[in-house]
Amino acid sequence: MYIEDQLAEIREKIAAAEQKAGRPAGSVALLAVSKTFPVSDMMHAYADGQRLFGENRLQEAMEKMPAMPADCEWHLIGPLQRNKVRKALERNFALIEAVASRKLAEAISRIAGELGKTARILLEVNVDGEESKHGFTPKELQEEWAVLTALPHVEIRGLMCIPAPTETPEGARPAFAALRSLAETLRARGPLALPELSMGMSHDYAVAVEEGATIVRVGSAIFGKRDYGAV
Ligand SMILES: *Cc1c(COP(=O)(O)O)cnc(C)c1O
Repeated sequence: MYIEDQLAEIREKIAAAEQKAGRPAGSVALLAVSKTFPVSDMMHAYADGQRLFGENRLQEAMEKMPAMPADCEWHLIGPLQRNKVRKALERNFALIEAVASRKLAEAISRIAGELGKTARILLEVNVDGEESKHGFTPKELQEEWAVLTALPHVEIRGLMCIPAPTETPEGARPAFAALRSLAETLRARGPLALPELSMGMSHDYAVAVEEGATIVRVGSAIFGKRDYGAV
């Protein structure tokens, strides 16, 4: 079966990259990015032991969540509009990964407070510094750090990035190294442990693991080519 074979290969590559980097086996979580793929495909991955799924769009996640077994864990990895924060927080995402602005983090904290929850989030960093891209620039994150870490109803678990596509996996290494180094700087500043670094996709997850990723977000390498026309 295609999906099972792909998963086996990816798990092996992750293990090899962990070993190469001198990291303990099992330090990296494989997030299966299932956007655009049907629940039937996701169930193949589930049957093969996969429990962690990532969806890009809230609406699509909300449709799939009740259709999958209850022991799945979900990450929201796409941009979240502020007017959809309540809807998102009413679902049980283990992690909201792409929190790309202070305003969004503040809205999440406020609404999580209203719902009596603490939301686990990652802050998205615009590591390339391209104007058009989502996320905090490293400088902004430094400037906003005191405000962000004081938000009462969010738990900032770490950082994530979606670097500009590169021709080779190696091409992404500097961006991954930059995210890791930023996390180290912020850890040193306190007060957060920032255990998670979400970086690396189908093309370059092995390099990301070598650079310290704790979550790799892999879609097409598991499920095949995405057909956006189908959704
Ligand atoms: C779609 C997506 C991925 C997975 O991309 P692949 O190249 O298919 O592995 C990872 N992260 C985010 C934020 C995505 O939107």
